[in-house]
Amino acid sequence: DRYLSGLDKTKKSFSERIRRLALGFSGVDEEFLEELMIVLLEADIGIKTAQKIVDEVENRAMDQKLKSFHEISECLIEVMHDMYCEKEDEPFHENSDGPTVILMVGVNGSGKTTTTAKLTKQFQEEGKSVVLAAADTFRAGAIDQLAKWADKLNVPCIKGREGGDPSATLVDACRYAKEHQMDVLIGDTAGRLQNKANLMKELEKMRRVCEREIPGAPHEVWLVLDATTGQNGISQAQIFLETTNVTGIILTKMDGTAKGGIVIAIRDLLGLPVKYIGLGEKEDDLRPFDIDSYLYGICE
Ligand code: GDP
Repeated sequence: DRYLSGLDKTKKSFSERIRRLALGFSGVDEEFLEELMIVLLEADIGIKTAQKIVDEVENRAMDQKLKSFHEISECLIEVMHDMYCEKEDEPFHENSDGPTVILMVGVNGSGKTTTTAKLTKQFQEEGKSVVLAAADTFRAGAIDQLAKWADKLNVPCIKGREGGDPSATLVDACRYAKEHQMDVLIGDTAGRLQNKANLMKELEKMRRVCEREIPGAPHEVWLVLDATTGQNGISQAQIFLETTNVTGIILTKMDGTAKGGIVIAIRDLLGLPVKYIGLGEKEDDLRPFDIDSYLYGICE
């Protein structure tokens, strides 16, 4: 399955490390816990989250008198699972009175435009009509790139001009979506992180104009993060979280990294659900994220 093979790199390195851990196992002692910590850090789970996991594994091993390595590794998976599921996720905020508006945010190069195309394909497969707003007026070529995807997927694309006001493009797209009774509008926005105050102002304006055109919009704001940037991606994410109301994360390039542990860190540190993961450059390479298949995929 594409889902599992897309996680091959993470899986390979994680299970190899777990095997290494098993070789020297003689019980849950300090040495073992230290080595477990290293395994987690190598998967890019981050120090804070890794420490929590190690402590919890230690507690459960004591309470439940776990002895064998097999029991301990099952316990490790359980701890990560419970950590992810601690917070309950809201379902997709679908607008029942008109178009559902989704804004894509994130830094340049994270995969926003490609992910917008992939999402379009997913919604089409659910029988929904989609209109795109090329509101990344900042990155050279971003508008053309999205327009090409729109052609390929046969959906309308509302374009602004490079350097123009992204909010103006969103207004046009909202009006188009209403007039043509589209189910979903996806806005591909620019990610300028150099100046937090400007980013905040621009995102606020985009929200405001969407809300004015379509009550309740944007219904979802999805932050696109490049999984290969590991812990740096988390710092970036924090800046976006401070500037706008993000409702979910999309982790791209999971196929190109052994740092898949980032999913657990994101959940623990940012508290946001990972909605989808990107597993390649084509329009089909997106999967809804599911913690069970994920843990199964990297640990089995
Ligand atoms: P944007 O600047 O955020 O809009 O980023 P783009 O959508 O242009 O993506 C940047 C690069 O990453 C492109 O070369 C994409 O093909 C590539 N890319 C995006 N998502 C994925 C993914 O899930 N896996 C891989 N391997 N490449 C991806």
